[in-house]
Amino acid sequence: MEQTADEIRRLKACINDLISVLALPAIWSGGEPSQVVSTLLDVLLGMLDLDFVYAKLNDPISGAPSEIVRLAQPGNVRASTQEIGQVLNTWLRDNPHTSSLVVRNPVGDGDVSIASFRPGLLDSIGVVVAGSGRANFPTATERLLLGVAANQAAIGLQEARLLSEQRRVAEELDQRVAERTRQLIIVNEDLRRENTERRRAEEALRESEERWRAVFDNSAAGIALANPSGRFLAGNLAYQKMLGYSEKELRELSFLDITHEDYRDANSELTTELLEGKRQYFEMEKRYRRKDGNLIWVRVHVSLVSGKQITPRFLLVIVDNITELKRAEEGLRDAQMTLAHVTRVATLGEMTASIAHEINQPLGALVNNANACLGWLSTENLEEVRNSVELMLDDAQRASEIITRIRSLVKKAPPQKDWLDINQTIREVIGLARNEIQRNGVALETQLSDDMPLIFADRIQLQQVMLNLMMNAIEAMTQVTTPRELLISSGADDSKGVVVVVRDSGPGLDSKSHERLFEPFYTTKPQGMGMGLAICRSLIEAHGGRLWATTNAPHGAVFQFTLPIGSVKVS
Ligand code: ADP
Repeated sequence: MEQTADEIRRLKACINDLISVLALPAIWSGGEPSQVVSTLLDVLLGMLDLDFVYAKLNDPISGAPSEIVRLAQPGNVRASTQEIGQVLNTWLRDNPHTSSLVVRNPVGDGDVSIASFRPGLLDSIGVVVAGSGRANFPTATERLLLGVAANQAAIGLQEARLLSEQRRVAEELDQRVAERTRQLIIVNEDLRRENTERRRAEEALRESEERWRAVFDNSAAGIALANPSGRFLAGNLAYQKMLGYSEKELRELSFLDITHEDYRDANSELTTELLEGKRQYFEMEKRYRRKDGNLIWVRVHVSLVSGKQITPRFLLVIVDNITELKRAEEGLRDAQMTLAHVTRVATLGEMTASIAHEINQPLGALVNNANACLGWLSTENLEEVRNSVELMLDDAQRASEIITRIRSLVKKAPPQKDWLDINQTIREVIGLARNEIQRNGVALETQLSDDMPLIFADRIQLQQVMLNLMMNAIEAMTQVTTPRELLISSGADDSKGVVVVVRDSGPGLDSKSHERLFEPFYTTKPQGMGMGLAICRSLIEAHGGRLWATTNAPHGAVFQFTLPIGSVKVS
């Protein structure tokens, strides 16, 4: 009966302990593996009346073991956890399959009964060893409790490990997310900075564009942009007003379309040179045809603008509409031409006697030869008849040449340049003035160089200059009784042009009036006009040359001029 009661008590105690062991997972739920083991050891120590409990757990990741010991009377034990572990591990290694044994007590005196169990199915988790000085340890109930505890511990550890693995993974994930987020923030920051910079650059560009558009629109100068083939891309208000076309209409045109035919070739030659990089810029005076058909004169500056992002474009700037200026220039040129014509006619007027004599000579010879011819005809001497007729033809030719020369000088023709031999021009003028030279007892000497370049010049204008200088020289020499010598020479100029010198032995130039000779209307002659030298200088300068006077030694004056070779090209 008492035995039954004992048994019932024991069973109740056992059930209580079992409930305690079964409740363990609730305690250690969510804890670390080390916490699980600590709780397990504490519960076992208290529940089973043990001297010590020892656990060695393998770390699932590194495999490194960790040891924990719980002692019933910790104060009496001097051995360290490692020393206790060493004793127990030796025993475990030597008796791997034995779950209980009596060994020397590692934490006290005498022997101790020990029981070991390995949580889980495999040995991988570790081992738990319980030791008690009681000889009956472990009893069947204790073995049961230890077994259940082992299973609970296995589940708990597994859970704890899973949990800690989950935590580790979650942490790692968190770290990665944090790292990614950090990188994203950096990238975002970069993007934001880039965006701000781009916005700032765009803003600056827009401001600059607005500024330039304002300059473009409000400029008093006509400004236009055209593509490489000359088609307009834009034209400001001043440009539109100048030409009478709207910007839209301009875009349908090229600048050659509105350029007067006379200037197109020169214009496209210059723009080609710009495109080929042969020049950076050019400036030209030309005529534009307005939309209403009227012609205007402009001075246009053209350059090529190019950049990294744009194809090259022509920039046309018209600083001034020079129509009025050109009109005035044309008027001046007309007036000059008329004046030049008048002085030429006047000079020739002075030479009337001389010219009449010059023409009379061949005409007289012609009459003589005609008479002779008639005589030969009556004697039927045909040989002599032919001779006379040939002489008559020569005389007629000479007379006609003289008339042609005079006519060309009297003719009021606009300037016309051509390649010419200056020596030939000098000879023609000498031919005209020959009689005047002889009549005034002047000895003429010519020194015309053979090595002369052709020059691009107006023949009649140069004849006029030569005639004026020669007539002035002859007239000046009429004032002296000393020998009258006229020397006309030509040569190549140092600067690749020509130089012509007219030297006389007249009274020379007085130093007071020297500078005034070339002034219009300056004359010392009672019938003089004082325009000859002024016109000569303007004609020579219009050819890009120079005319000046010096004193001849020992007496007389020297007038000389230079002329560059000249060029057909519009400059
Ligand atoms: P004009 O012959 O009608 O006087 P020009 O302009 O040809 O006009 O000449 C201006 C002046 O220059 C002349 O009146 C004369 O005093 C002076 N002059 C020109 N040529 C000579 C010369 N060869 N020798 C001396 N004086 C000269």
